[in-house]
Amino acid sequence: MRVRELKRELLEKIDSLDARIIIRIATGLDDIHQITEADADLIDSEAAMARKLMERRLAGTPMAYITGEKEFYGLPFHVTEDVLIPRPDTETLVDVVLGYARRYADPRILDLCTGSGAIATAIACSLGSPVAMSDISEKALAIAACNYESNTGTRPDARLGSLFEPWAGERFDIIATNPPYLTQSWYEETDKDVKAEPSLALLGGDDDGLGIIRSIISLSPEYLNEGGVLAIECDYRQAESCARILRNEGFSEIAVAKDAAGKERVVHGTRLS
Ligand code: GLN
Repeated sequence: MRVRELKRELLEKIDSLDARIIIRIATGLDDIHQITEADADLIDSEAAMARKLMERRLAGTPMAYITGEKEFYGLPFHVTEDVLIPRPDTETLVDVVLGYARRYADPRILDLCTGSGAIATAIACSLGSPVAMSDISEKALAIAACNYESNTGTRPDARLGSLFEPWAGERFDIIATNPPYLTQSWYEETDKDVKAEPSLALLGGDDDGLGIIRSIISLSPEYLNEGGVLAIECDYRQAESCARILRNEGFSEIAVAKDAAGKERVVHGTRLS
């Protein structure tokens, strides 16, 4: 079988960008060589691998899991099915944290529920200073630490445990978090690609999806320095409730930041007393 025949076969079922990426993984030919070498013969195992990857794609596996890579904040991240694929929306959370971090000479920052480590890594790379991270999933934390190390060249303070469990007695200037926050019904409405992601990283608990966010807000004052900031990503339909919870828990200077699509995405507040 020739390269052009394999390509034609794939294009009948998947879009051309995905087909090119799959052919690159299976054959090692980049986009240009897929054209200049279109008449080259493939070995059977290359065609078989391309078909296998296409089947995974057709079954709803996101391309990021097939390639094992996703770009976030201009940086490369390794991803597996143990972590949520970093989303452009979450860059808003990084921007909010960087805005606060620049007020400090040497801020102590925590990324809670770090997942792939994208938030901690993007902040650490932009600031050139360390960011601590934790997650309840051992597999996720291993990937997070690996992403942090490959992008920053330094090893993170990465701790395993539920929410603040690994941080007893520690205090931070900024706590950033993109915890699970989907409601059961939003989750059921999402497309196949999202269902391939770990539900542990998506479902927030309680009818309004804010179960985990409630726990984080009520526990966080004990882990924040005076004047410290808690910044939380949530769904735009939750921003108002999230701000109310922060107010009820005694936070000040509460504000909401919009993502690139203009949707309310990040709610943040300051612990003043
Ligand atoms: N924004 C994600 C989604 O809609 C959810 C991320 C999360 O729960 N932290 O799929």
